[in-house]
Amino acid sequence: MAEILKDLDYFELDELLTSEEKLTRDTIKQFVEREVLPSVERHFANETFPKELVSRMAELGMFGANLKGYGCAGMNNVAYGLMMQELEAGDSGLRSFASVQSALSMYSIYAFGTEEQKQRYLPGMARGEIIGCFGLTEPDHGSDPGGMETRAKRDGKGWVLNGTKRWITNGTIANVAIVWAKVDEGITGFLVDKGSSGFGAHDMKGKFSMRASITSELVLEDVKVDDSQRLPEAKGLRAPLACLTQARYGIAWGAIGAARSCYRCALEYVKSRRQFSRPLAGYQLVQAKLVQMLTEITKAQMVCLRLAHLKDAGKMRPEQVSFAKRNNVNEALKIARLARDMLGANGIVNEYPIIRHMLNLETVNTYEGTFDVHTLILGRDITGEAAFD
Ligand SMILES: Cc1cc2nc3c(=O)[nH]c(=O)nc-3n(C[C@H](O)[C@H](O)[C@H](O)COP(=O)(O)OP(=O)(O)OC[C@H]3O[C@@H](n4cnc5c(N)ncnc54)[C@H](O)[C@@H]3O)c2cc1C
Repeated sequence: MAEILKDLDYFELDELLTSEEKLTRDTIKQFVEREVLPSVERHFANETFPKELVSRMAELGMFGANLKGYGCAGMNNVAYGLMMQELEAGDSGLRSFASVQSALSMYSIYAFGTEEQKQRYLPGMARGEIIGCFGLTEPDHGSDPGGMETRAKRDGKGWVLNGTKRWITNGTIANVAIVWAKVDEGITGFLVDKGSSGFGAHDMKGKFSMRASITSELVLEDVKVDDSQRLPEAKGLRAPLACLTQARYGIAWGAIGAARSCYRCALEYVKSRRQFSRPLAGYQLVQAKLVQMLTEITKAQMVCLRLAHLKDAGKMRPEQVSFAKRNNVNEALKIARLARDMLGANGIVNEYPIIRHMLNLETVNTYEGTFDVHTLILGRDITGEAAFD
């Protein structure tokens, strides 16, 4: 097993995992080691998405992993979380692909769609044959999606959609876009198939983060959709927010994988790199950094495992997910920056995974609710006062 993928289990949390959960984790760990790591730096450098991995990811049950029926694996939320952790130990972009496919696109249909929509899309999405994207963010509305300007107007028995969605993961490779739009009654969702007249997607290039992930702009100009393409149970902003809760749950786990990869790499490096009289690992300042990293990774693991148990018991609150996403991603970003520093000049080259994780985590800290937006969510929860505007 590659050193960077080894487990980090200071509090022996493995004892709390079932053999099935461990098997899932180890299977994904192997997949990442054998099939992701050999090519991910090249994809990151070339700003390309490793599309060749999609069918393998489907085979391993990664799409809609914690959903039941429709060809989905139906695993519990511990196994699903561990899966996201191992995937992100490879690259946040690949975990983003899985999150958008599963927790945002498939979950939208699963939670808010008709039985006909579920039958039509979900089995193909689980097999990786239908790729989805989730269009919520707009050029002028990120943290405040409720201000969205995309509109859907009644047109006989169907709808006409107009608007622009920006920063949409998987946009140009998606076969179906979940487009959130305002109607007279409030916000609802539509399934817009690729190739619909008036619907276009183009890649956003020049990112220094998430380079192995596709990020796109979606343009909707008088796009006609049948009423059968509306998600009938998606009523109001709470619908996309419910999908975001699912995705944020996976992100909280995923960040641990990226942080662990950086920690492992820095630890190995300082053990062998000698400066002045001995290995860097023998200096107190270096040890303090390693201890900080270990402490935060271990705390993040505990938060996630408890969150998973709450989710499986149907007791997880969105605010608890905000807590985990906010903390784990922010700490992972700090760990990546520390690890980058500990490798000195070598910290900036792609011979090591650290700089890639660090750059990716800048996005992870921003998307799915920024660090500050989750602070506001938690602040509202504990004070009863909303400080958003
Ligand atoms: C690579 C990538 C992939 C993405 N994929 C998707 C996707 O698939 N689908 C999708 O819909 N979106 C996606 N996004 C968009 C992402 O969710 C948004 O970028 C995010 O919600 C933040 O919105 P914004 O960028 O407009 O920042 P803004 O909302 O403009 O925020 C800018 C800054 O202001 C702060 N801020 C905002 N409001 C407040 C406030 N009330 N009080 C204090 N501070 C505040 C924020 O915390 C932040 O620091 C993606 C983004 C990236 C970078």
